[in-house]
Amino acid sequence: MKVTQAGEHDMAIDVICDVCGVSTWDGAGEPQYGTMHTSWGKGSAHCGQEYELHLCERCFFSQIAEMKRARWLAVMFDQEGDAILGDDAYGRIRAPTSDGGSGNT
Ligand SMILES: [Zn+2]
Repeated sequence: MKVTQAGEHDMAIDVICDVCGVSTWDGAGEPQYGTMHTSWGKGSAHCGQEYELHLCERCFFSQIAEMKRARWLAVMFDQEGDAILGDDAYGRIRAPTSDGGSGNT
């Protein structure tokens, strides 16, 4: 949940984790959080509904672990089963590179 300061652009001053309720801002820099967002479209049971949830780093990776576990339960007797549990980059689309930039995984 974004905490905004009323003003010209309703600037976000903090983001509270929607799972644990803790601030994602440590007092320096910018709030650090992950976002789960969807806007369901035509053909879905939730057509026209939009959701946005914010998760602190700990809760974000806890949710990823739970997603991996749920995926693993669906395929645990298949060859890919163990690979899913060992995939440290599950869902990641970018990682830092050795030159300080970022690149695709
Ligand atoms: Zn949290």
